[in-house]
Amino acid sequence: MNGGGDPITRERARAVAARKVLPWVVASALGAAALVKVAGATWGGAAGVLGAGVLLAVFVSTLAVARCPECGRRLPRPGAEPAAAGGGARLKGCARCGAA
Ligand SMILES: [Zn+2]
Repeated sequence: MNGGGDPITRERARAVAARKVLPWVVASALGAAALVKVAGATWGGAAGVLGAGVLLAVFVSTLAVARCPECGRRLPRPGAEPAAAGGGARLKGCARCGAA
């Protein structure tokens, strides 16, 4: 089984994993803020909890972007371009430095 040994494949897998937890993070932030409010906190207290959750969501969303391990350029998402554009050959690695 291919464990994704090359850095770009591992980076893509990491970004996909971060993208999967993002909705969970957002839902948790909303749920935590609602719970805090229900528990009797002021709107300011609930907003503080929500703000912390939003910060975490922003952080996770930055992790959800795959970046080239060599130069830091954003990697195109596989399948982001129409198949008619000429196949996936150019999607494999980095368009700037050619890391693959
Ligand atoms: Zn690169």
